[in-house]
Amino acid sequence: MPSFSEEELERILKKMIFDVETEFWISVEDGFDGNCYWIPTPDDELDEEAMVGIIELDVELSPFKRICALSHEVGHYFLHVERQRWNETNVVIRESLAWYLGHEYFKATGYNIDLVEYGKESTKCLDAYVRSLNAETNSR
Ligand SMILES: [Zn+2]
Repeated sequence: MPSFSEEELERILKKMIFDVETEFWISVEDGFDGNCYWIPTPDDELDEEAMVGIIELDVELSPFKRICALSHEVGHYFLHVERQRWNETNVVIRESLAWYLGHEYFKATGYNIDLVEYGKESTKCLDAYVRSLNAETNSR
């Protein structure tokens, strides 16, 4: 993937977003607070017309990082669908799973996100996540 130009990556990202929105009924939106999220629609607000949730992608990120983030947040969507099964699982394991599941999904739909670069990005994010968890624990 790093061999693609930024413009090509933007184009690929747009297609991925389109696929996610039409396949899962998720709304993918620009995020402006420096973060990426998966925000499920509360169960009591779900009806046939409601989106199942929102994925926010930080607009400041490069196209490749937004592709990685989209994949990760789609992974969170999969975990959300099976939340009865995963809710008890350790949060760091869930974060890793979300990276894995998103990558598997896009691979299955024909988007081969470079696993080396994706691995670097996921390691960086997991590392930051674990640090913030530790900081939280230590401040208690
Ligand atoms: Zn996450």
